[in-house]
Amino acid sequence: MKKKNPYKLTFYWKTESKISTSKCAIRNKRIKGISSNFINRPKVKSFIFLRDNFSCLYCNSQEHLTIDHIIPVGSLYNENLKADFIIGKLLEINSLENLQTLCLSCNVRKSNGTT
Ligand SMILES: [Zn+2]
Repeated sequence: MKKKNPYKLTFYWKTESKISTSKCAIRNKRIKGISSNFINRPKVKSFIFLRDNFSCLYCNSQEHLTIDHIIPVGSLYNENLKADFIIGKLLEINSLENLQTLCLSCNVRKSNGTT
């Protein structure tokens, strides 16, 4: 069965093999947009904060809380990835199970890969 494309994606998604660097940049921007749209929905934000008790899951801080993607969005920024794979992963990444509450400093530390 062919996977449904829920994201209204344009030509650069259809490519089956490696895409050019410039198309990849456009695609990355779109991936980023889709993901920040999702976590910035007020309902999504309040669900995650409530579920995680309004505290950072790493250090318990209750200040400067942010929403973090457990599987990072940046893992899709790769020109070798095929569109089908990306669409599947986007559904996984933009799900409530993939989101967690982190304070700003833990979030920054995590994205720097130092945690
Ligand atoms: Zn923290």
